[in-house]
Amino acid sequence: MKIILLGAPGAGKGTVAKLLTDFDGSVQISTGDILRAAVREGTELGKEAKAYMDRGDLVPDSLIMKIMEVRLQEPDCARGFILDGFPRTIAQAEALGSLLKKLDRKLDMVVNLEVPREVILDRLTTRRTCSNPSCQEIYNIKSMPPNPDGTCKKCGSKVVQRDDETETAILFRLETYNAKTAPLIGFYEKEGLLKNFTSLSSADTVEAVKKALKEG
Ligand code: AMP
Repeated sequence: MKIILLGAPGAGKGTVAKLLTDFDGSVQISTGDILRAAVREGTELGKEAKAYMDRGDLVPDSLIMKIMEVRLQEPDCARGFILDGFPRTIAQAEALGSLLKKLDRKLDMVVNLEVPREVILDRLTTRRTCSNPSCQEIYNIKSMPPNPDGTCKKCGSKVVQRDDETETAILFRLETYNAKTAPLIGFYEKEGLLKNFTSLSSADTVEAVKKALKEG
């Protein structure tokens, strides 16, 4: 499959993307994960991106497009790709359109995950992440807590709140989403690619997406 996952931060794009990769071997491409890895590794890209990310702002389109031009041409994309967190602006969507044309590939669908704002706020403020870069297991202090001493159940490292998951950064990320990313819903609707999914359970959403893909 070749799809885009749209949705506010905390809508569950990452979880849905991971579950969808099992379907047909398509690869998940998360620009957020790529950027976080660059920050951890201290690369030039990471150094440029960090301040934007910490305050919940978008990294400039030019940096993102440089990453995606390379990433989409890697061999593991041959079977298909699930874009998670990209595009985030109309400029990125237009640049993606030109890139896909050049690569002679076509999107199957744009999946828009709709989740009520209260659910999103609750999910994001209670989310915690394993601090071990090679683990990164996600927890939720209410529904899926780490060990009682705040360590990861998988690797034993400390479980922490991400810099961009403080309340101030979360509110800014949601504002940024509404201002810059939500307009993509109309953009892809016009292209006839958009499908809306009310997404409270990731498993149900994945089944609905698979069904929609099969029906074409
Ligand atoms: P995410 O994990 O997708 O929520 O991304 C985390 C952060 O990475 C965002 O708040 C942005 O600062 C940055 N980021 C991720 N993807 C993009 C993108 N496509 N365009 C601009 N910034 C991005």
